Amino acid sequence: MKLWVKILIGFVLGAVVGLIVGPPAAALKPLGDLFIRLIKMLIVPLVFSSLVVGASSIGDLKKLGRVGVKTVVYYLMTTAIAITLGLVLATLIHPGAGFVLKSVGKFEPKPVPGLVETLLNMVPTNPINAMVTENMLQIIVFALFAGVALALIGDKGKPFHDFFDSTAEIMYKITGMVMEFAPIGVFALIAWVTGTNGPEVLVPLAKVIFVVYLGCILHAIVTYSGAVYLFARMSPVRFFSGFFEGMAVAFSTCSSSATLPISMRCAQENLGVPKDISSFVQPLGATINMDGTAIYQGVCALFIAEVYGIQLGMPQYLTIILTSTLASIGTAGVPGAGMIMLTMVLQAVGLPLDGILLIAGIDRVLDMIRTCMNVTGDAAGAVVVAATEGELKTLPAGTTVGAK
Ligand code: ASP
Repeated sequence: MKLWVKILIGFVLGAVVGLIVGPPAAALKPLGDLFIRLIKMLIVPLVFSSLVVGASSIGDLKKLGRVGVKTVVYYLMTTAIAITLGLVLATLIHPGAGFVLKSVGKFEPKPVPGLVETLLNMVPTNPINAMVTENMLQIIVFALFAGVALALIGDKGKPFHDFFDSTAEIMYKITGMVMEFAPIGVFALIAWVTGTNGPEVLVPLAKVIFVVYLGCILHAIVTYSGAVYLFARMSPVRFFSGFFEGMAVAFSTCSSSATLPISMRCAQENLGVPKDISSFVQPLGATINMDGTAIYQGVCALFIAEVYGIQLGMPQYLTIILTSTLASIGTAGVPGAGMIMLTMVLQAVGLPLDGILLIAGIDRVLDMIRTCMNVTGDAAGAVVVAATEGELKTLPAGTTVGAK
């Protein structure tokens, strides 16, 4: 049986078991946590080693710069489309209509770092510390420098290159091994979520959930399908089936970073993205490109405004687009991070922060779809960038999911 079929079965069984068993299904969570830990174990060595080798093989600085610019432009554009879509849907569907506001308590916001500080923070003062604390942007910056320098020193760099090249291969191999456990991990995580989020939690906010899911699915169908077809002539069916494992893992783990090893493997093995491009575009995307989060933040901002009876005008809409773009860039690829960053959007438009508590109870369910979109956007980006560089590999016909 193909791996993706097994994952799908784990998924459906998990949902059924969670619904039948209810909250005690939480007992299964350690199996899911084990799965997440197994993948997380690979992130730092995988990202660092593959990016060093990738940057050194991209070699010439001009190409590296070009790939960088394309990636960032693609990420910003798709994120702006995502928020606009979220806002349009929320305006049409009115997720807050009919919601009865009871007293919610006080939300204590955490301070959000400013723009200058965020940019400065990308440069590590201690690369080892960046790895220890899993600071992805800092790891990326250091790896890029190391890779470029490696290309510049020629023969002297060969041992370093070979060492990291084989480190990356080892990490990819372990990713494959860990994925064998994915059906069980996904089963446990989904059972836990459905078991602990019964209908009583979900129904009052069904409209918010509906709008966020609809926004994400439309964004995938329109924007991502359009992008891979337009730039790479890749059929959407091929794209989504090739990336299915990445989507399933993101959906169940709610973490773009934790999904990274799987998304890179899918893009390289099933979608034909070369390693050097995948190891640059995807780790960067897992950190800064969060289209699902952007949709969610737009929808939630409008929902909160509606529930509190606050009218928003064009300037507020534009502020939401701008701040949600920034907030989604600043959101870490870990569960629940998007909700914390929502404070930034609410603050900018002057909406009550306490409103966050309204959605806190269902945030996991929203996190699943937004994380799924976040990583799918990165994979589509990798395909687009590879195609425009003329480097997308054509795989043998019929290669889709789980080629290996
Ligand atoms: N959990 C999301 C992710 O890892 C971030 C978010 O909370 O929006 O992509």
